[in-house]
Amino acid sequence: MDERLHEELVNWVDFYRELGIEEFYRRAPGSVAPLPATPAGTAVGAHGHAPLPQAAARPTLTETKPVVSAPPPVPPPLAGASQPVVAAPPIRPPAPSLSLFETPPPKPTGPETLEQIRADLGDCQRCKLAGGRHNIVFGEGNPHAELVFVGEGPGADEDEQGRPFVGRAGQLLNRMIQTIGMKREEVYICNVVKCRPPGNRVPEKDEVEACSPFLFRQFEAIKPRLICCLGAPAVRTVLGIKEGITKIHGQFYDFATSKALATVHPAYVLRNAREEKILREDFEKIRKFLKGK
Ligand code: URA
Repeated sequence: MDERLHEELVNWVDFYRELGIEEFYRRAPGSVAPLPATPAGTAVGAHGHAPLPQAAARPTLTETKPVVSAPPPVPPPLAGASQPVVAAPPIRPPAPSLSLFETPPPKPTGPETLEQIRADLGDCQRCKLAGGRHNIVFGEGNPHAELVFVGEGPGADEDEQGRPFVGRAGQLLNRMIQTIGMKREEVYICNVVKCRPPGNRVPEKDEVEACSPFLFRQFEAIKPRLICCLGAPAVRTVLGIKEGITKIHGQFYDFATSKALATVHPAYVLRNAREEKILREDFEKIRKFLKGK
């Protein structure tokens, strides 16, 4: 074979091998047009091949006998070198390749779950309350609750146990929940701030700003019918109302797709027994609202 033609052929074969094409078919004798002469100075491709002919000029392949190229020769073992026994890699089916038109549709992004919100909160260091806490008190209860209670922030018992309203105020709240024919597990209970303020002081503005986005995300996840704000800090945070709680308690406000109602904090009632009447009246309103009466 002509040396130049041979070299051209080698280049083409190499080129197709690089593309992963290993089998070649010989045309019927006489059907092959002579290779165009490569003009002098024709640019040689990055791989050292002659440039490919234009698509229209590409030869159509007529299948006759397959010409299977021989595997490359295996180099002989080095004298004296011990040959490690290398296990053949397992044969795996090729990973399914996705064409541009087969890419999976984007996953539907629904509302966040409480677990996702808790995971995002992580080992929160977003405000100065983090330094004094023992446990983050994220909230607990039914993730699909119709009724959500929001307190101010964890006290000592809550900080110790990592659960909301487990101290004396919590016991009063549990009793009030029972008066409306519900169980604590049926509702969801959380606070404006998730870490205990030192000495049970009222949470400060920067602490509320850092923490309240998580509270609002909890509402979004639960989508309750009614949010019950326990005490002034919860009313201020959720409804933005600064008026005294004794003035606005027991009224229903709109909050996104939910309603919200304010009542006195159970801890306040423990210190002012006469105010239990307010709490009872407001819980009766809650009961009627949830019953649709
Ligand atoms: N008071 C609150 O405001 N929240 C609690 O979790 C407990 C007491």
